[in-house]
Amino acid sequence: MKIICIGRNYSEHAKEMGAETPKEPVFFLKPDTAKLSDKIPFYYPNFTKELHYEVELVLKINRVGKNISPKFAHKYYNEIGVGIDFTARDLQRECKQKGLPWEKAKAFDYSAPVSKYFISVDSFENKEDIRFSLLKNGELVQQGSSADMIFSFEEIVAYVSQFITLKMGDLIFTGTPSGVGEVAIGDTLEAFMNGNKMLDLKVK
Ligand code: MG
Repeated sequence: MKIICIGRNYSEHAKEMGAETPKEPVFFLKPDTAKLSDKIPFYYPNFTKELHYEVELVLKINRVGKNISPKFAHKYYNEIGVGIDFTARDLQRECKQKGLPWEKAKAFDYSAPVSKYFISVDSFENKEDIRFSLLKNGELVQQGSSADMIFSFEEIVAYVSQFITLKMGDLIFTGTPSGVGEVAIGDTLEAFMNGNKMLDLKVK
């Protein structure tokens, strides 16, 4: 199982990061060791002093695919959940400045908590407008909708599959809306999708 993450897929977030709106999807990977299931505690890593949350909609791939055309991309994922793309922002900044890869800032152990449950694509009234949000210590810090994505789920699946074969069980994090920020030990993060609580995480 691998985790593919899309960067800068919401223009307001690209702006807050001082990045340009991309002309094609930007993606990076997290290994299977990055996955953290709901209810398992998350421990603040000791190599960062600036850990950021990024709440994202997550696609679950349900069949093997390579060079998928956008027209058929909807057949390659059958469930959608929510996840947090934890980012060591200080390390990421350092990597960017040096022109180095971001892995140590993005792909570390448990950097990808995902919701325990994923929802069947068929049960969404409109997957082009899935609303999701993140509360930190009970306060709303991020909210977005799949309607605001620069690249749609189908475009993402098609694009990534040109380079990397998608396999059953792979997860695709589809990008974060604006409002990313820091977490500290003791914080609680709760992620919602269409009003339903999907993820509950305590930072230890
Ligand atoms: Mg992200």
